[in-house]
Amino acid sequence: MPTIFACHENRNLGKHGWLHPVSKRLLYRACPALHSTMVSVPVKTFYIETFGCQMNAHDSEKVVGTLLQQGFAQVATPDEASHLFYNTCSIRDKAEQKVFHRLDTFKRSAKGKIIAVLGCGAQQEGEKIFERAPHVSLVAGSASYARLPEMLIQLEAGNKRVLGLAFDRDEAFETPYTRRDNPHRAFLTIIEGCDKSCAYCVVPFTRGPERSRTGANVMEEARRLAGEGYTEITLLGQNVNSYQDPSPAGWDFATLLARVGEIPGLRRVRFTTSHPRDFVKPIIDAIEADERLCNHVHLPVQSGSTRVLKAMQRLYTRDEYMRRIDWMKQSRRPLAITTDIIVGFPGETESEFEETMQLLDEVQFDAIFGFKYSQRPNTAALKIQDKVPEEEITRRLSAVQEKQRAIQLRKHGEMIGGIEEVLIEGRNHATQQWIGRTSQNRTLNFTHTSDDPALLGTYMPVRITRAGPNSLAGEACLNLDLLQQISA
Ligand code: SAM
Ligand code: SF4
Repeated sequence: MPTIFACHENRNLGKHGWLHPVSKRLLYRACPALHSTMVSVPVKTFYIETFGCQMNAHDSEKVVGTLLQQGFAQVATPDEASHLFYNTCSIRDKAEQKVFHRLDTFKRSAKGKIIAVLGCGAQQEGEKIFERAPHVSLVAGSASYARLPEMLIQLEAGNKRVLGLAFDRDEAFETPYTRRDNPHRAFLTIIEGCDKSCAYCVVPFTRGPERSRTGANVMEEARRLAGEGYTEITLLGQNVNSYQDPSPAGWDFATLLARVGEIPGLRRVRFTTSHPRDFVKPIIDAIEADERLCNHVHLPVQSGSTRVLKAMQRLYTRDEYMRRIDWMKQSRRPLAITTDIIVGFPGETESEFEETMQLLDEVQFDAIFGFKYSQRPNTAALKIQDKVPEEEITRRLSAVQEKQRAIQLRKHGEMIGGIEEVLIEGRNHATQQWIGRTSQNRTLNFTHTSDDPALLGTYMPVRITRAGPNSLAGEACLNLDLLQQISA
């Protein structure tokens, strides 16, 4: 087992070790008393790798916090670790293959190590993972992370295979020890699981039924995060806007959003992902009423064809989706709208695909995530016979991406000369530029006379000077007249 140097009062370094979010280097807090009697302490070390969406990234923060609290130390490579954790994604077939490929890679170096598979892939495959990868000894879905310490004890007690796959209602949200990667932006789960049944999607099987957290509980955590210095919070859920407070207060999503926005200390509140069926006008009213609610809505459409949407069991028509787009376009706030698109859903004809292309023209999204349809176990779409050939799916995805690239290039070009406030999130040392994010969730890289790391996490007006399809570039706006323009 690796050893780490610590003084006798600071031996539980797991509590103090953390990965620096930018450099990814492992940092340890020094012994506060600078004790001269440093001792070599054996510690359990863990390495974690995360696949998939923001929900998974945040789940890993819960796992990391729980392990640190248990006295583990986080390390940056699998070789240094006594315990390896793979937080998996199974949303598309490729994601799942990637996980098993990774597990194979580590078979050779697995001797004497505990290997754990977590997340959607774990929930979906369950005990089968032990057969496919016999060097794995723990398989646990996202609803079981609060039980992780107990499961690790079972392993230490000599149990060779431990399973945690229950969808326990009370244990699905934050653990008390969540260790957030980013010191300025925090994710906050408000709803878990999904009660919809889209014909292509595994989420209802891997994350279970919808469970909303009480409004009071969300507010308590959001206030605590603001108190710890976080200025941006993203409310998270598979369908965040299906949120329904289970307490007598009974807040809906728009109410919760408005209340979180009022918390002193927060400057930006985001949310993802919204389902069009539950996307109601009061959400836009809440955004309009409070500048702190960001100028961005991610509203996955999946297809521009009402016939395909019905086959996908999406519960809205193209017209109903467009009504929501109209609300956003008529808003007083400059809302950026982004979406998800699936191409090649079984039975999607050329003309139905063209309807998706026309929808892109009509909406002029600010960004899209385009996916090739991927067959998933247990899903209703498996029964649809009329599969679209793989080459055709590839062609459709390229066509969608090409069209969208042109749209983004044009929209970004129109922003040149404007001023946007960014949260400074990082520094690109190669280009000597700061990396910022706008309220509309655009990346805006910019130059500044200072390279002081204290700028990280601060907000800064930036004048846009150049535009690419995926990001903007500019220069820090240090001129007082321009500052007044932005606040006007
Ligand atoms: N709940 C959100 C909604 O209903 O719009 C989406 C959450 S899902 C985890 C993220 C995205 O993955 C979906 O919007 C969809 O575009 C994509 N996706 C899900 N299942 C897929 C599949 N079988 N094949 C391709 N893309 C898929
Ligand atoms: Fe999947 Fe549909 Fe639920 Fe979104 S709403 S998570 S796409 S089943």
